[in-house]
Amino acid sequence: MPSETARHARLTEQDARRRLEHERTARQEQLRALAEAGAGADGNLVAAQEEAVRRVLAEVDAAFERLGTAAYGVCEGCGALIPPERLEILPYARCCVGCRARTQ
Ligand SMILES: [Zn+2]
Repeated sequence: MPSETARHARLTEQDARRRLEHERTARQEQLRALAEAGAGADGNLVAAQEEAVRRVLAEVDAAFERLGTAAYGVCEGCGALIPPERLEILPYARCCVGCRARTQ
């Protein structure tokens, strides 16, 4: 692992907060769209999609709570710092890719 990566191992809190807020807004819009689609579409399918979106929203809320504490961006599995590239894609990630792979 090059030292360059270690120096930039964390997103700034501001960056992470912006990405989480973006994620939350996108998911809330998704829920609205699903509610609108719900009437005409397969109810079970829509309910399953809503459930999935709500799970992500709960993860986003949990990440907001970790933000500003030492826990944010630290893998719950192995305690390593989660690479910022991963947090940019998945700002509410709890685990590094390795631990994620082990638990799935
Ligand atoms: Zn890990």
